[in-house]
Amino acid sequence: MDILKKSVLELRELLDKGEISSREIVQAYIDRIEKTEPKLNSFVTLTFEEALKDADRADEMIRNKTHTTLTGIPIALKDNISTYHVKTTCSSKMLENYRPPFDATVVELIKQAGMPILGKTNMDEFAMGSSTETSYFGPTKNPWNLEYVPGGSSGGSAASVAAKQAPLALGTDTGGSIRQPAAFTGIVGIKPTYGLVSRYGVVPFASSLDQVGPFARTVAESAALLSLIAQYDKYDSTSLNNPRPDYLRSLEKDVKGLRVGVPKEFFIDGLDAEVEQAVRKAVKALEDQGAEIVDIELPHSDKALATYYIVATAECSSNLARFDGVRFGHRSENTKDSVTMFKHTRAEGFGPEVKRRIMLGTYALSAGYYDAYYLKALKVRRLIKEDFDKAFTKVDVIITPTTPSTAFKFGEKVQDPIAMYLSDVFTTTANLAGIPALSMPAGLSSNNLPIGVQIIAPSLAEEVMLSTAYSIEKALGSIGLPELEV
Ligand code: GLN
Repeated sequence: MDILKKSVLELRELLDKGEISSREIVQAYIDRIEKTEPKLNSFVTLTFEEALKDADRADEMIRNKTHTTLTGIPIALKDNISTYHVKTTCSSKMLENYRPPFDATVVELIKQAGMPILGKTNMDEFAMGSSTETSYFGPTKNPWNLEYVPGGSSGGSAASVAAKQAPLALGTDTGGSIRQPAAFTGIVGIKPTYGLVSRYGVVPFASSLDQVGPFARTVAESAALLSLIAQYDKYDSTSLNNPRPDYLRSLEKDVKGLRVGVPKEFFIDGLDAEVEQAVRKAVKALEDQGAEIVDIELPHSDKALATYYIVATAECSSNLARFDGVRFGHRSENTKDSVTMFKHTRAEGFGPEVKRRIMLGTYALSAGYYDAYYLKALKVRRLIKEDFDKAFTKVDVIITPTTPSTAFKFGEKVQDPIAMYLSDVFTTTANLAGIPALSMPAGLSSNNLPIGVQIIAPSLAEEVMLSTAYSIEKALGSIGLPELEV
């Protein structure tokens, strides 16, 4: 039996029937990581010993029938999610040796469910970037073609799932960091409604935008992981305390009569023709199943990127103030007094993209510029949210491309921040509006790179987002996983 090819739900059945153990599953993934990791660099830290111990505990839970849907299924975690005593570096020199004294709430949920953790995945430094090229530990490669980026910032998590190094992974999405790498690596990635998943213990980038979410090979597997992590948390003041459905159960709802919005602002000059074709095919698949396709407008979408890069940098300049060499992380040796120590610590510990963001954000918040930049950005953010509110009176879900193009090559955009920021042109609106969005594979380009389609839904309407995705997946069929020569 090829364990790596089995879906999480197939593994569940085999585990329940006693035909396989969690230890065997974890060992198969460890072997695969050992073989492929020298090529991919998806991980910053590997935790195989703990994973095998967790697997034994999971096998015991299964024997005692105290297990749940994901017990015994291994997972990889983005390295900005705190893990007790296991390095959590944010792929930064600043936190190179940082071991948190506690688990993030999502990690607690994963441990309680008996999911063995294979390791911590590579990312753009402090989640700032779209290619993993800003990682202090070197970039992750795209398993479809090693010359191409896997996207970012959660590029390690995405590559690990696409390359069968892990069946599931968690990432974070502030402006597209789950959906864009999911699109570039041909898998499913979800950014949940703001407040659906706890941010407690997740190193903050821009707190009003950050959300944790799942990566999986298929819609159903992503729904199973979302059900596990979407829990109210009293330790996160923005956590929503509403009833949570079982997302796995919501998939089969048919799309007959579903009103699907196609916003003209997302089909613009610069959109790759093959990407457009694939997205239109996904829309057509829904129409063929009885959905009603509606042309809609989201008129402020062209302001989203500028708004995002003010709000996100402003919040990051404040959030990253804590890295001063006093409480945790890197401390400069060059410390003649405390002010020099702060300065040198930050100059040595942060990479160039993080410094650029802190400076931009500090500028946008400074007296004299606050009204012109930050306050104005908040007003435009409201207009973007109102565009969606209006659209969702006419439609149930919205379909767009996830990214304007397929994956790009290493070095292509890293010297040009604006070109890099443009990779997020279709993903930031959902973060600004706080609403859920999912990316799923919609086909392959002529040079054999995955194309992603994005489904956006109203606040807390994850169920209709998932059932729409499931219908598209059934109609289009799978693009498969990359053949990675090892
Ligand atoms: N790529 C975007 C940025 O650089 C989004 C990052 C994210 O979602 N964490 O800010």
